[in-house]
Amino acid sequence: MIETTELLKEYQLKATPQRIKIVSMVDEHGHISIEDLYKEMLQEFPSVSLATIYKNINQMIESGLIQEVKIPKTKSVFELIKEPHLHMVCDKCGKIEDISVGTDKVIEEAQRLSGYKIKESFITLRGTCPDCA
Ligand SMILES: [Zn+2]
Ligand SMILES: [Zn+2]
Repeated sequence: MIETTELLKEYQLKATPQRIKIVSMVDEHGHISIEDLYKEMLQEFPSVSLATIYKNINQMIESGLIQEVKIPKTKSVFELIKEPHLHMVCDKCGKIEDISVGTDKVIEEAQRLSGYKIKESFITLRGTCPDCA
């Protein structure tokens, strides 16, 4: 469990009750879609709007606390920015897991071959998780 208030301060964001809740939920779930975030927020803040959540999430993205993870054939999810990792997606139950495999070599090689200056990468592996296998 992370110290949410401190984390928000560290990223120069005012620790409002809604932001604290958003960061805690993202941390707890690992990856969460905006729709699921909204549903859970409503339980604690019945008058919160989806627009407010988007606004908060965007501020957190801008300050580098949260990032959007784009996974093909799945809706976007949000996670706290941490070490580079790959995403494993289960085709059966749809869960998304982080796996700490370094991506530096892949990115370096891609950069070398393409001449691109790579800014971000989302590497996703699909398969069947051990629970569904
Ligand atoms: Zn599964
Ligand atoms: Zn992740």
